[in-house]
Parts: sequence; C-alpha cells; structure tokens
Amino acid sequence: MKELFKNIKRIWPYFKKHKKYIIGMMICSILSITISIAVPIYNARLIIHLTNSIFTKLILTAIVILLLEISWSVLDFFQDMFIQKLYRESRYELEMKLGSEVLKLSDATLKHNGTGLFIERINSDTDTIAGCFTDLNRYIGNILKGIGIFIAIFIINKIAFIFLIVRLIILFIVQHKRVTELTNNQKKYRKERDKLTSFVGELVRGASDIKMLNAENSFLSSLDKKIKENNSISYKTRRINKNYILVEDVISNFFDFMLIVLLVMLIMNNNIEIATALIIHSYSNNIWSLSNIVSWFFDIAKDFNISTNRIFEIIDNEKYEKEIFGNTNLKHIEGNFEFKNVCFAYDKQKVLKDLSFSVNANETVAFVGKSGAGKSTIFNLLCKLYDNYKGMITIDGVDIKELDKNTIRGNITIISQSPYIFNLSIKDNLKIVKENLTTKEMKEACRLACLDEFIESLPDKYDTVVGEGGVTLSGGQKQRLAIARALVQKTEIILFDEATSALDNETQSKIQEAINNMKKEYTILIIAHRLSTIINADRILYLENGKIIASGSHKELLKTCKSYKALYEAEIIKKR
Ligand code: ADP
Repeated sequence: MKELFKNIKRIWPYFKKHKKYIIGMMICSILSITISIAVPIYNARLIIHLTNSIFTKLILTAIVILLLEISWSVLDFFQDMFIQKLYRESRYELEMKLGSEVLKLSDATLKHNGTGLFIERINSDTDTIAGCFTDLNRYIGNILKGIGIFIAIFIINKIAFIFLIVRLIILFIVQHKRVTELTNNQKKYRKERDKLTSFVGELVRGASDIKMLNAENSFLSSLDKKIKENNSISYKTRRINKNYILVEDVISNFFDFMLIVLLVMLIMNNNIEIATALIIHSYSNNIWSLSNIVSWFFDIAKDFNISTNRIFEIIDNEKYEKEIFGNTNLKHIEGNFEFKNVCFAYDKQKVLKDLSFSVNANETVAFVGKSGAGKSTIFNLLCKLYDNYKGMITIDGVDIKELDKNTIRGNITIISQSPYIFNLSIKDNLKIVKENLTTKEMKEACRLACLDEFIESLPDKYDTVVGEGGVTLSGGQKQRLAIARALVQKTEIILFDEATSALDNETQSKIQEAINNMKKEYTILIIAHRLSTIINADRILYLENGKIIASGSHKELLKTCKSYKALYEAEIIKKR
C-alpha cells in the first residue's frame, strides 16, 4: 500500500492536467453508487406491492425502477467516455515523456541493454499504467459503493453485518497472499518479455542477413527457447492465480450458502422481516462483487507498481544512466578542437593512451591505423557519447564537459559507415535537421553531396520514400544523403567514418568529390580505410594502440612512418 501511494504521487503529474476527466468519472461514479443502493430497496418494495396486490403503487415503483436503470446506463456511458479520454491523454503524456527520456540515455546504456527493454517500457508499461490508473478510479467508486452498502446493512441488521465482515476479512487475507506471490512472478515475466522483444527486433532487422547466412535454424531455435521460457513463466503465473481464485470461489460459495441459512434463522426467530431479508440478500450480492473488486484492486495495484517502478527506473535516472551536459552555450563555433592527454577504456581494456593532438578550424585531418587502433573511439569521445575519460577535450578552447547539448550536437555530425536513414522521403530525411528547409537549400546540399543526379533520376525525386533504415539506397547513396544532411544542418565539425566495404570506383569518387566540396569550409575528420581517398588531406595522423605515432602530409608520412608506407604499398599491390 505504501508503495502504491508513493507511485501514485510519482505518476500524478502526468494525470493532473486531465483532472476534468477524473472529476467527471467521480461524479458519474457517485451517482451510480446512489442508484445502485436505491434499486434493491425499490425491488423489495415491488415484491411487497405484488404480494399485497397494490397495483397502482406497483406500477409507480416499476416506473421509478425503470428511470433509475436508464439513468444508470446513461451514467455508465459518460463514465466510460471520461475513462477512455483519461486513458488516451495520460498514456500519450507517458509515452512522450518516456520517449524523450530514452533519447537522453547514454550510449553505453543503450548499447548494453537490449532495445526490447526500452520498447516494452514505452509500449506496454505506459499502457498498463494508464489502464490501471483509469481502472483505479473506477474501482475506487465501486469500493465506496461497497462501504455504503456495509453501512446500510449495519443499520438494518448487526448480525448480518458481522457475518459479511468476517467473509470479507477471510477473502482479503487469501487475496493478499495471492498478489504477493504473483508480484514476484510478474516481475520475472516482464524481464523475460524485454529480452524476447529485443530478440524479435533483432530477428526482424537482421532477417536478410540471417537468410544470407543460412542461419534460420539457429535463430529459430533461440526464438523457440525464449518463447517457451516466456510462456512457462506466464503459465506458472496464471496457474498460481487460478489456484487462489478457486479457493476464493469456494469460500465465497460457502458464505453465500451460509448467508441464506442465517437469513432464514433470523426470519424464523422474528429478528427481521422477509422484505428486509430480501434487501440484505440483494445487497450481499453487491458485497460479493465488492470482494471481487478488492481482488481486482490488488491486481491493479500490483501491475501499477511494477510498471511505474519500471518506467521511473528510466525517468528518474534510477538504473539507467543519462547523458550529462554542461551549461555553456557557444552561439557560433569556429571548429578548433583539442585532445589533451586523453586516456579512455570502454570496460577494462585501455583504448586511448595519453592521446594529445589538436585540429584547427576548417582543416581536413585523416586518421589512419589498423582496425581496433582507437579511431572511432576518438569520434565517440568528441561527440560526447562517452565522458568517463581522463584528460581534457576542448572545442574552441572550452572543455566539452562544460558545453551544453546544443553546442555539441548542433555543431558536430558523424557520418558513419552505415548512417541511419529514416523510413521517410528524401526531403523529410533532410528536414529532420532543419524544419524550414527551402527547396533551394535542399537541392544545393544534394548537389554538393553529389546526390542530385541520382535523386533526379527517381520517379518521385525528392519525395521518394527510402524504406526502413534506407534499404532502397546503396551504402554510398546513404553516406551521401548523410553528407547532405550535415550540409543542411551546417555543423562546423564533420566526422566522416569512411566505408570499409569496397565501394565501386564511381561511388568512391563521388564521395571523394562531396568531401572536396566541403573542404576549407568545415573542419573535417576522416577515418580512412583506403589511403587513396585521403592523400589530399591537410594532415594525416597515424594511430597505433591508442597513440599517435606519426603525423604529417601523405608525402611526409611516406618518408617518416614505416607503418604508413607499408600500409600504402599494400593497398597499391591489392589494387593491381
Ligand atoms: P578503430 O575505429 O580504430 O577500428 P575502435 O575505436 O572502434 O577502433 O575500437 C578500439 C577498441 O575498443 C577495439 O578493441 C574495440 O574492440 C573496442 N571497442 C570499441 N567499441 C566498444 C564498445 N562500445 N564497448 C567495448 N569495447 C569497444
């Protein structure tokens, strides 16, 4: 209960805005309760008038009952409308909040936890919370109704009241035990579901690679294992639930029978009249449903607590680390930056070792070195995807730990080997970085990125939708579209992770041309996998085991750095 109140307090800000629906629900609920208490009284009167053959009163009572029943239906209609509205609006708020919080998570957190964990929380936990909260309101109304009926029975007959209270307490104990046992299973089930969703996401995204690798069987057997694990926990949870419900039903039926015996005894001893016994019996049916409601209430509280805890693990930084930015905002940056004695390790393995270098604004600098030397890591640190490094990284002389998010992310673009292109039109893929993009700007960016000819050749031109992840584009086209995106965004620093896969000569020269178009106007860093593409760079840094071992122009390095020369010669031989 303590946890429930704590969680209601945490979640309340997302529902507060929609107070009007909650008030509407409550009003409908209270009016319904009043009617539900009145109807049994009129029903008992109806029977009395019928047995006494007083037909005018009988008809009048029947009309009152009819009106009450119609009002009940109308109230139910409005209550449901408010519930739906509250559900829709509050779920929207929670989904948006959680979506924005997921985008603040650190890269390490996103990479180390499967995507399913976050997808499940955005999709399913928000649904549970919004559903529970609306149900909670509905059931609170019903619980109030039950209490009202208890008071009525207390006034009518104390013995019947005590009998019903005993029944309620016994059921309450059983339900409490059931929920405690279910909560642990449910938590485990949700964790397993996160894993399954991650796996299914990977299976769908990687479907074409799985087919090419002829690895369907291995993936299907993993899927089979995961689904079975999920189903077994879910089955176990249901079994526990059903076992308890069986016990509860037996107890309820036994008390139902005992109540009739009790009422008969009370009538025989002249303690109550038949009409009063009828009212008590009719009310007791409502109390029977009260104990169901108490049971649902426990269930709702359980689901609500589990889901709220799960989403606040993200919202409140409880478990999943968020990115931290400073407060300094640089309106305009030149594009100078420097690494000063930077040491960094992802886990325990040291990747960058006391690395120092600087790059001037509008310079084009290439990083060369064997795979695993730490080139991409330099990009990751500059973009502040990781900040647990030693030493200092500055942009225009300011420590990047002091800079705010807009200064860093608004001024640096990474063009990765396989940039993520969204399932939108080409135009909208460019608009995501500049909403008010003009056609002229868009065409100019695509021209500089050497993508204009290709786009013009498409039937729908800039309105062509490129499929999920840009599947309808080649690797080179995706990179050029990402270059166009960077040009639209006008970020001062462009980090270019050249594709490792062999691009055909034409594509390669187009990308080269695009980079040349940007030279001298942007600070460009290139991770070079083919040295022929960076011969014209202003400077080349040769990296080995997280350290720069040589620096200079292509010609200089051929003379001064044996490893560079060997790499270059190996590439020339390969080409021949
Ligand atoms: P390069 O770009 O020069 O090929 P990277 O900077 O990508 O090298 O990687 C340097 C080292 O760091 C490699 O040994 C790689 O396995 C490791 N590494 C890269 N990314 C991660 C990561 N996210 N978590 C753990 N280790 C990583």
